[in-house]
Amino acid sequence: MNIALIAHDQKKNDLVQFVTAYQAIFAKHTLHATGTTGLRIHEATGLSITRYQSGPLGGDQEIGALIAKNQMDAIFFFRDPLTAQPHEPDVSALVRLCDVYSIPLATNMGTAELLIRGLDEGLLDWRNIAREKGVRNGK
Ligand code: PGA
Repeated sequence: MNIALIAHDQKKNDLVQFVTAYQAIFAKHTLHATGTTGLRIHEATGLSITRYQSGPLGGDQEIGALIAKNQMDAIFFFRDPLTAQPHEPDVSALVRLCDVYSIPLATNMGTAELLIRGLDEGLLDWRNIAREKGVRNGK
């Protein structure tokens, strides 16, 4: 599975801890991340991660483009609900694209636990078919 990892600054420690806790599962998948988030996770875990631009510099949009091309299977996006983000339109666009294409999206630790455990139990295997056959929700 292609998994995207993104965390706003106040949530980066949470995501690093989360990925560290589930490192054995994440290691089985292809990981993508915005610039700083990816660096932090790589430094903490040694996991191989394709890094894009930092979120405020276009990284959210790069990951959004992969969703639009049916190349993302799950998104872990730990948003900071208490701090204004300069790239709020990009954040909204990324969440919107997940909804357009029915891509599983976890925006907090509670849902992230369910998503990573479900993914490991095969509950997202439908994404392999959707990706390989070019089938997807939305236009
Ligand atoms: P960053 O971007 O990982 O480069 O900090 C995340 C974001 O703020 O959207």
